[in-house]
Amino acid sequence: MRAVAMTDQRPVLELVELPDPEPGEGEALIRVTGCGICGSDLHVASAVAAPGMVLGHEIAGVVEALGPGAAELGAKVGETVAVRPFAGCGHCPSCSRGRADHCDEFQLLGLARPGGFAELTTARAGELFRLPAAVTGVEQALVEPLAVAHRAVVRGGVRPTDSVAILGAGPIGQAVLAWVRQLGVERIVVTDPAPARRRLALDLGATAAIDPIGDELGMLELALSGADVVFECAGRPGMVNQAMDLAAVDGRVVVVGVCLSDDVTFPYTGLRKELDVRYALYYERADFTDTIDALSAHRLRLDGYVGDTVELADLPARFAELVAGADGGKVVLTP
Ligand SMILES: [Zn+2]
Ligand SMILES: [Zn+2]
Repeated sequence: MRAVAMTDQRPVLELVELPDPEPGEGEALIRVTGCGICGSDLHVASAVAAPGMVLGHEIAGVVEALGPGAAELGAKVGETVAVRPFAGCGHCPSCSRGRADHCDEFQLLGLARPGGFAELTTARAGELFRLPAAVTGVEQALVEPLAVAHRAVVRGGVRPTDSVAILGAGPIGQAVLAWVRQLGVERIVVTDPAPARRRLALDLGATAAIDPIGDELGMLELALSGADVVFECAGRPGMVNQAMDLAAVDGRVVVVGVCLSDDVTFPYTGLRKELDVRYALYYERADFTDTIDALSAHRLRLDGYVGDTVELADLPARFAELVAGADGGKVVLTP
């Protein structure tokens, strides 16, 4: 099969020919129809991914073959599925409650084992979510990032009467925006330094989109009014503190951005406002099924969410552009 793999020159990817993968015990072979490029793919390609690894964890595809025992786990050849990209031991307490991400043997597809930047991949049969016919085309590959955002919105306990601020309008910030809109929230302020992302946020239904660096007055107004729920979707140092500054009294801060360096917060801000600061990474099974339900019923407004699609042969070049810092909508591989 053709695939796009890490070279030994971080973060450069290359098109390669690999043997077709074989589904192991309890696994399915998936013919990839779509795989989103995630901000975390850009991070891991620059930092930790091993040479030869096939990245990509936002996988949709058609089940092509089953390994031993996979049928017993509900997988069916020919079904179109979204993949929760988890592989755990399958029997520890974390795996038993559907949270293989907390298993000692946890492997994320597209990081610790091959993912979706390929014509074929393998996944645990129990982590496949059947996609109804109403979820078509590129939306099939959006289940994973939308499920991340769904989990964050659940963690935030968002109510329709809340005011919401979303810091960072990359694909996860935009997906959080789509969910809070769907809940009926009326006041949603998004901040992002990139003009194209601010425009996209307005297209997706934000009340206002502020440049956090250039628009001091806008940021001051946001801080003075305070948001009931603030989503930190940027993942850079200083953002959790800013989220706490922008939260209203009794507010909630949900940290979704992946910041991998030390950071400083001012605890008295949290004390004074009695804030709840919560973290959201990955998803429960229900985040996948709720996302698929919402997509099938066309309940999410996603105009412009996908910026463009790219074929396998063009992925290494497009990936390099994204690493160099592109803005705008999400890029999805359609092998
Ligand atoms: Zn992702
Ligand atoms: Zn386990």
